Amino acid sequence: MPVALVTGANRGIGLEVCRQLAGRGYRVIVSARDIEKAEAAARTIDGNIQAIALDVTDAASIKRAYDDAMRRHNRVDVLINNAAVLLEENDELFKVPMAAFRETLETNVLGAIAVAQAFVPGMVAHRFGRVVNVSSRAGQLATMSDYAPAYSISKAALNAFTRQLAASTNGTGVLVNSACPGWVRTDMGGTNATRTVQQGADTLVWLATLPDNGPTGEFFIDRKRIEW
Ligand code: NAP
Repeated sequence: MPVALVTGANRGIGLEVCRQLAGRGYRVIVSARDIEKAEAAARTIDGNIQAIALDVTDAASIKRAYDDAMRRHNRVDVLINNAAVLLEENDELFKVPMAAFRETLETNVLGAIAVAQAFVPGMVAHRFGRVVNVSSRAGQLATMSDYAPAYSISKAALNAFTRQLAASTNGTGVLVNSACPGWVRTDMGGTNATRTVQQGADTLVWLATLPDNGPTGEFFIDRKRIEW
């Protein structure tokens, strides 16, 4: 069965994606920046599960995670770039500290790029891969408002990365897409959110398990393509 790596998988949507992929028989790497949290999360899932430490903002951590994953499985077929932060959500643009922009872009954009740089070349070599960049409608340029400036800009940039990675892997058997999980009850989404983690994970798992003739370079919500 394919091997799937999920970033930021110790809680929320990432953990649920791991659970659903494990339920389909995938070998799942539950990664988190704190190894103890990754191990605790992995213990809550039945199946072929490995916990590893992976801080997406730390190049040495990404390298160690890659080496760990290769030692154990020799390949990674599916990457879910799920780790993200939502900082200064309710600040207006002019008030958001540059440090918040930096941390947001480091995690939500550069983190996803760096992890993909480590893992996607192996997928290209095997002529098989699925990459899901967990984005948000907040990053949709067509409808962009003044909500959560740092986060929204980061998700628009993540979507641009989806297009770049899809173009650069076109025809190699690697399918790359962005998806919004909807408004989900997690630490990030809050208790008023309208969706369960199971509902939020659905489109991400669907994209992670696409058939070979599936789409690439697109943006989805509820398994439907939406404009950028
Ligand atoms: P969450 O509950 O806040 O979980 C975020 C996860 O990201 C945590 O596991 C966190 O780890 C991890 N993380 C943060 N910085 C990291 C780093 N540097 N390295 C590795 N992991 C890191 O959020 P969620 O609601 O599950 O969100 C998952 C994804 O869905 C995100 O990409 C989010 O933007 C997207 N999304 C969520 C909603 C929603 O309504 N919830 C809506 C649209 C999009 P720690 O525990 O160590 O902090």
